[in-house]
Parts: sequence; C-alpha cells; structure tokens
Amino acid sequence: MSQPNHRETTKKIKVGNVLIGGGAPISVQSMTKTDTTDIDATVKQINALETAGCQIVRCAIPSKEAALAIKEIKKQINLPLVADIHFNHEFAVLAANAGADKLRINPGNIGDSAKIKAVVEAAKNHGIPIRVGVNSGSLETKVRKEHQGHVTAEGLVESALNNVKILEDLNFTEIVISIKSTSVPMLIKAHQIIAGKTIYPLHIGVTEAGIPSVGVVRSSVGIGAILTQGIGDTLRVSLTGDPLEEVRVGYEILKSLQLASHGVSVISCPTCGRTNIDVEKIATAIEVKTRHIKQPLIVAIMGCEVNGPGEAADADVGLAGGKGVGLIFREGQVVRKVAEAEMINALLEEIERRTK
Ligand code: SF4
Repeated sequence: MSQPNHRETTKKIKVGNVLIGGGAPISVQSMTKTDTTDIDATVKQINALETAGCQIVRCAIPSKEAALAIKEIKKQINLPLVADIHFNHEFAVLAANAGADKLRINPGNIGDSAKIKAVVEAAKNHGIPIRVGVNSGSLETKVRKEHQGHVTAEGLVESALNNVKILEDLNFTEIVISIKSTSVPMLIKAHQIIAGKTIYPLHIGVTEAGIPSVGVVRSSVGIGAILTQGIGDTLRVSLTGDPLEEVRVGYEILKSLQLASHGVSVISCPTCGRTNIDVEKIATAIEVKTRHIKQPLIVAIMGCEVNGPGEAADADVGLAGGKGVGLIFREGQVVRKVAEAEMINALLEEIERRTK
C-alpha cells in the first residue's frame, strides 16, 4: 500500500503572498548574506534573489537595529521576508512590528513565559506565522541528555515538537517546522519520524552543507531523499557562497524530481570520442544566458548524429552536432542547419522565440 503524501496533508500557512503546505507548490527560499542594517546591500541582494526565482527570503536579525531595518527593506522589496532571531524576544517583537512576514525563533530558547507570550501576541496581531527549528548543532542539553548525550533523529524531532507544544499551548498554530542536520542519514530519518507526528508544514534543508562543490551534492541527496517520500513543503539549499546559487540548486532539485517546472532545463550529453562540437562550452553558455527565463523549457545539446537527433527532437529546443555544423530542432522538427560558431546564438534565438 502506498504511503499517504505528507505534503498534501499539512496545514496551509501563509507567508506574505506565498503559501506553504497543504499541497501548495514547494517554495524555494534563501537567506541574505549581507549585514541586515546595510539596507541598500540587503535590498539589492533580495531583489537579485527574486529575479533568480527565490520566493521567500530570510534575514538575520542579531540586533535591535537589524529588526528596525526591516521596515525600510520591506518598502523596497516584493518577496516575503522572514526575520531570523535567536533568543531575544524583543528583536522578534520589533521585527513583527516592522513588517516581517514570518518569524524564525524557538520559543524554548526565549526564556520565561511572559517573553514567549509577547512574541506570540506580536505574531497574532500581525497575522504572521512562526517557524520553529532545531539544528543538530544546537540541540537542547536536556534532550541531548535524554538521548545518552548524543544528537539523534528522535532527539531532533522531540525538540522540534517541544517548541511546537509551547506555541500550541498559547493557542498559536500558524507554525512551520524545520529540522536541520549536517548528517544526511539523520536528517532523512528525522523527517520520516516527524511526518508521522505533525500536521505542520516542513521546511527542509541540510544545514552547513558546505562550499558549492560539496554542499550541492549533500543538499541534493538529503533534500531529494526527503522530497521523494512526499515530505517537505518548502526548502532552502544552504551553501557557503552566493545565495543566488542556493536558489538555482533548489530549483534543479525540484525539477530533477519533476516537482516543479521552472525556467530552462539544459540537457547535454557527456561527450565521447564521437563528439563533433564543443558541447560543454555551448551547454554552459546556454545555461548561464537563460537563467532569467522563468517559463519551463527543455533544451537538449547533443554532440553527434548518433544519439543527438533523438534526444534533441524530444526537447522543446535541441541541437545535434555534426562535423562543423549542427541541426537545430524546435518541438521535434529540424528548423535550421548552422555552423558551430553560430550555434549559441541560434539556440538563444529559438529559446527566446519559444518563451515569448
Ligand atoms: Fe557521444 Fe553522441 Fe552520446 Fe554525445 S550524444 S555522448 S557525442 S554518442
């Protein structure tokens, strides 16, 4: 018997104009890497993230000034903004008052119940949700002790649900949960467990995944494995590097599982002794030059006339390389024969024509 799809059954939560959970499309998030009090730099990065397809952006709020900066930042951006706060309930209240669309804070870390209540009241007054999240690096000492001093998948789930319970006891249920771990197997196990225990939507990601060459693989394996089990309502790929790359990789994960159609997907052959054209150069140029396109489109770039025409003809736009020349396909039909020097421009023209 097939498992019910957790993603279809989670509570629908609204973050600005984006829905998370209840079968809503899986949203792609990122986090700014600027000093939030540098309003110009933060706005610039958020707007670049929006162009890359990011749907929700998170900003670190480590100070009162950063919380207050949200007001001005919000005037200059379109994306819903999540205020990321650790421990300090005053920053959370200020962020909510300044127009944050979601708070990311763990009530278990705020302190006494009056402080927790103040944050929940602020969220209620502004109609914004709260994301509670546990991280393998910051698991509460109490939970760790219960699990023989170790961080375990069960411990991560327990900690997340403890935070949920604190909010529910205050009649607050606009909740998103995240569990993050640097261990991919632990992350997968924790999501399998929590999916059986909660109706709240899950924000998924591998924490501290690393520099892109490593982090992309770890994130793709971890996030991908969770998504294939019908779990996960929104995601962030965490990379040590450009946040735009986080968004690009997030979509590639979703597209590879056919969970989203977004932008141009470039298929290219691995090349071999039959290759007639510079496939790598052409595929790289097309991938980079079409990143602004949001409409879904499959572009195939193939190096020879053996497998090339079949794959190229199945794509929306395709190129099959021959000796010094190539055939350009559009929806299965050969539309042009071009010299190698013209291939990139000819493909871009066909892509533009198809996405207008
Ligand atoms: Fe080699 Fe042609 Fe296959 Fe590319 S499509 S890997 S050139 S056989």
